[in-house]
Amino acid sequence: MNVATILNQTTKDFENNGLASPRLDAEVLLARLLKVDRLDLFKYPERELTDKELADFHPWVYRRRMGEPVAYITGRKEFWSLELIVNPDVLIPRPDTEILVEEVLKYYKDSDKTDARILDVGTGSGAIIIALAAELKNASLSACDISSKAIQVALRNAEAHSLAHRIAFFAGDMFAPVSGLFDGIVSNPPYIEDDTFYALSREVRNFEPASALMGGPDGMNFHRRLIRKGKHYLKKGGRLFLEIGAGQKETVVGLFRNEGDYEDVACRKDYGGIERCITARRKN
Ligand code: GLN
Repeated sequence: MNVATILNQTTKDFENNGLASPRLDAEVLLARLLKVDRLDLFKYPERELTDKELADFHPWVYRRRMGEPVAYITGRKEFWSLELIVNPDVLIPRPDTEILVEEVLKYYKDSDKTDARILDVGTGSGAIIIALAAELKNASLSACDISSKAIQVALRNAEAHSLAHRIAFFAGDMFAPVSGLFDGIVSNPPYIEDDTFYALSREVRNFEPASALMGGPDGMNFHRRLIRKGKHYLKKGGRLFLEIGAGQKETVVGLFRNEGDYEDVACRKDYGGIERCITARRKN
């Protein structure tokens, strides 16, 4: 069986099982299995698969058919052009979250604050803090997560990109493991409403860590805690950067306003047109 045949066959299989992007999934899985770029699949459609390769591929096709995300099967996901290791202990980084990285960079890149102290709360795979480490050469970076298994993944990712020496990782609840004041605190906290969790796609609901997704009755429990506690960990003039879900902007803006001590609240849409990032400044 050659590359072209197995791709067609797998695509049809995924299509029949109702997957949303059957061809792409088949390509990403096969490319990973053969350890080649996706483009190589088109350059060498005649390449024959060995029996071992076929035997290894079948369980992957089965897992995908059952709804497991491609990223957990390949164990990889790209974020900010960096290849990251992922497993079911961490949320799969979403492209939308790159907006959050862009916002942080807006304030700390090319500024005189290149030695800024920045903390990522709930780092998961480490996507945000590792992207920041790759961009900010002088910043002093820390990241925490309540899950020590997630911290292990984040650390492996930092090591894989030779950035581990730039980031201090801590396992613990929110601000518990850190001390001192930060110039920037960034977080993509869990923000799915309890009731909508069960309406998420089976890929997310059955495979990704619920603890990284569920944010309480209105999804904003973690935003509340981050805004309330965050001000005690921000320098005067420092900024909090939060990812939010669709429809949460007004409430989170209100949380900043009601808390006092914050000013200059600003929102930014993702490329799908959804308000995705809120930032506010700790008053002087
Ligand atoms: N954007 C993610 C999703 O909808 C949720 C991420 C989060 O809760 N922080 O699957």
